[in-house]
Amino acid sequence: MFDALAERVQSAIEKIARKGRIDKETLEKGLREIKLALLEADVNYKIVSDFIKDVREKALGAEVVKGVNPAQQLVKIVYDELVEALGGEAAKLDLKGKPAVILLIGLQGSGKTTTAAKLGAYLKKQGKKVLLTSADVYRPAAMLQLKKLGDKIGVPVFLMEEEKDAVKIAEKALEKAKSEGYDVLIIDTAGRLHIDEELLDEARRIRERVNPNETLFVIDSMTGQESVNIAKAFNDAVGMTGIILTKMDSDARGGVALSVKGVTGKPIKFAGTGEKIEDFEPFHPDRVASRILGMGDIVSLVEKAQEVIDEKKALSLQEKILSGEFTLEDFREQLRMIRKLGPLHQILSMIPGLGSQKMLKQLQQVIDEKKLKRIEAIIDSMTPEERRNHAIINASRKRRIARGSGTTVKEVDELLRQFAQAKMAMKQMRKMQKKLAKKGGR
Ligand code: GDP
Repeated sequence: MFDALAERVQSAIEKIARKGRIDKETLEKGLREIKLALLEADVNYKIVSDFIKDVREKALGAEVVKGVNPAQQLVKIVYDELVEALGGEAAKLDLKGKPAVILLIGLQGSGKTTTAAKLGAYLKKQGKKVLLTSADVYRPAAMLQLKKLGDKIGVPVFLMEEEKDAVKIAEKALEKAKSEGYDVLIIDTAGRLHIDEELLDEARRIRERVNPNETLFVIDSMTGQESVNIAKAFNDAVGMTGIILTKMDSDARGGVALSVKGVTGKPIKFAGTGEKIEDFEPFHPDRVASRILGMGDIVSLVEKAQEVIDEKKALSLQEKILSGEFTLEDFREQLRMIRKLGPLHQILSMIPGLGSQKMLKQLQQVIDEKKLKRIEAIIDSMTPEERRNHAIINASRKRRIARGSGTTVKEVDELLRQFAQAKMAMKQMRKMQKKLAKKGGR
């Protein structure tokens, strides 16, 4: 979601870098551009001013470090400030006590109910016994929605559909969680489309009564400038210990992340990154700052890969490549693994060096996601025998495959040609490795 912001900030820094050295004038010009970029990303004005002031002070006061060019030094300063503005270290959840209670507050539509389930699934995965409850007494549909999600993730949902007092539901849920030995109780609350005194008061009363470990304020990344007022209202009336930023996958401009942390002083603890239950992750200020500056985020990439890629399969593929037995079947497997990591542009943006917006745009022109899908479709339309031995694919087979995959014979031809070339390259690589091994006397 930080794409536009990243592009602007990077271009500002690039301009400074071209100058070679940073004099006051160059710095001011660069800072002005960074300021505009932040404002355009909907970061609150006061937060932007403070940010720029801090960067300026540090840049002017910075000692010249040998071997580091001034632009790199400025990148480092902006990076440090961004990390700070986004909350510094990744914040952990307080899960002390049995049960630990987590209260979710926020406007309707912010993604609260979805987040309750995502958080439930996340904690369940860590071995916690989780109970969910909905204290939304105004919308029976909200209760049902939570129940459905709970069923899906295998987490029990405590409901009192006839009860009209939200505080009572929270109390009863807590009693149940206590007596039945739950580790965590997650309470979803009602929201309105706008800030509403009565509702804030209700959330405050629930908070007072159940004394939660965490009161997490859920906010949609697309909220824009209004986010500052909403966050402030919730913080003043109910209080909060942290923030969950939802819909980070949207094309929101990213300002909410900086503004909400700035105005409440509370850390962003998690980020929602899609509609699916597993699209949820702890928020790491340092990684987000790296992405904004085009420094890539290799840590997230590796973590993601560990999560979705089956190591055994990956190893066996590698062996096949090295032994020259690599078939179209294996190629398809490889494509699937890559696709599991997420949309390609997202993966690419996490790789350091490729992370800059300019590079990404160029790469995207070469690597076309739709094309990958078509390639997969072509391989899907082959018989297992054809996949194992592509040499048998003659003209009539090609026509059949093209028809079956909704592509053209030309595309099938192209894939086969590229595959043959890739195999050849693998062969040469293997030969070279052998030669080198011999030379090394091994
Ligand atoms: P609530 O009214 O605050 O409880 O909001 P819901 O949980 O019902 O969510 C509102 C909408 O936002 C639903 O369509 C969700 O699927 C969607 N949503 C929630 N979190 C995310 C997210 O991280 N990414 C995307 N793309 N959609 C989300």
